[in-house]
Amino acid sequence: MKALFILLLVQLCSASLVPEREKDPEYWRRQAQETLQNALRLQRLNQNVAKNLILFLGDGMGVSTVTAARILKGQLQHGQGEESLLEMDKFPFVALAKTYNTNAQVPDSAGTATAYLCGVKANEGTLGVSAGVTRDHCNTTKGQEVTSILRWAKEAGKAVGIVTTTRVTHATPSAAYAHSANRDWYSDGEMPPDALEGGCKDIARQLVENIPEIEVILGGGRKYMYPKNVSDVEYPHEEKHRGTRLDGRNLVQAWQEAKPHGKVAEYVWHRRGLLALNLSRVDFLLGLFEPGDMIYELDRNNETDPSLSEMVSVAIRMLQKNPRGFFLLVEGGRIDHGHHEGKAKQALHEAVELDRAIGLATRLTSTQDTLSVVTADHSHVFTFGGYTPRGNPIFGLAPMQSDVDRKPFTSILYGNGPGYKIVAGERENVSAVDFAHADYQAQSAVPLRQETHGGEDVAVFARGPMAHLLHGVHEQNYIPHAMAYAACIGSNRGHCNTAARPATPPLLPFLGLLLILLC
Ligand SMILES: [Zn+2]
Repeated sequence: MKALFILLLVQLCSASLVPEREKDPEYWRRQAQETLQNALRLQRLNQNVAKNLILFLGDGMGVSTVTAARILKGQLQHGQGEESLLEMDKFPFVALAKTYNTNAQVPDSAGTATAYLCGVKANEGTLGVSAGVTRDHCNTTKGQEVTSILRWAKEAGKAVGIVTTTRVTHATPSAAYAHSANRDWYSDGEMPPDALEGGCKDIARQLVENIPEIEVILGGGRKYMYPKNVSDVEYPHEEKHRGTRLDGRNLVQAWQEAKPHGKVAEYVWHRRGLLALNLSRVDFLLGLFEPGDMIYELDRNNETDPSLSEMVSVAIRMLQKNPRGFFLLVEGGRIDHGHHEGKAKQALHEAVELDRAIGLATRLTSTQDTLSVVTADHSHVFTFGGYTPRGNPIFGLAPMQSDVDRKPFTSILYGNGPGYKIVAGERENVSAVDFAHADYQAQSAVPLRQETHGGEDVAVFARGPMAHLLHGVHEQNYIPHAMAYAACIGSNRGHCNTAARPATPPLLPFLGLLLILLC
């Protein structure tokens, strides 16, 4: 009797969850017809040459993260959530990328960054080098370096930029400019003696030396730029934030000095400094806003640290000054960190902020000349389920208790990670804890200090010239090949000067016909 009553109550409640308009079949038919009209319009392909390229990378932003972030975004705007659209959802072409590394089924961010930036799959933990390089083995590096789409764009005369919420020497951004047998060699202070003796260079030094004319570099990572024990400008009394370099160099100064005579190179470490810049008078911009990674968006100090969107806005306005166009890498780098910590709320708010940056970039550019691609390096063992009703708070409980241990559970769970919790020999009762807290660690099936990456494919969203080249299930290293083809940069340019892709309607045949008629 009691069970029947509860069932009746659930059915009554879920009936009221359905928005009135969705009860009308015409609503769904109309929506599908609009989608169909949009799809038919896409038959006329955008085959322009992409003047600008933007690659948005959500570190660890698997498909389950994308869906949960969409619901969160909708709920932040007071909707039920499921029906809302992320900016990336509006991209017309979507593909899947296979993320495995050459030596790993479940990949890491360094091997994958080498794939989607350099166009070559590589071993986990290695950056900007082929799979001939073994992690940690400095002496295997020489001759195995592979270059990135950022360098191809620079060589074609475009402006280039890197924006990230991690340290600028972290795996994703560093594959754009560095070559290293180990992703953790941030400065020489992190390198083992044999690697230093073998002549391998730390990643921060490579940032300054390898491609000295990167117009925009924004993110965290100050401490790797300064000599050991030099105190940090923002946290002068905190030992852990001090410089790490053994070679005694000041790489911020070296970065400034390496710029051509007469060019203006600005370094900023503070949000106000960034927003006060007169960008028309700045040729090169380096912004390092934290000693290590930037702070989670939910915890960010709005006085001292810019948001990802603010950094992207500055970067695009800087890069747009180059008449030959630009390449920009934008990383939402801490989605991954939130997940590793089992803190789904941090991870999803990072994903929503990346999406905000995508929307902003869309408004600052045109699909006629800008190819934008949104993807992830890999997924996580993050999931949500439990037959939650429509509009259930994304960080909320499933509507039933476990029929095994008779306890409630949150919809969001991890396959493994730090949220595994046994109390008095049993799974913790989540109704006794604040599971909506920003730092709540969702329960996991297996205890691990750090939750792990997931191995399934990730989505690739594309919009703009040649976006249709991203259309099926691809190897991840295909992405920069398609982007470079669209922009006529890199090695694959045979098609660029032929009549196959006229940027404007051909004028000569028309003039010829006119002449014949007139004569
Ligand atoms: Zn990770």
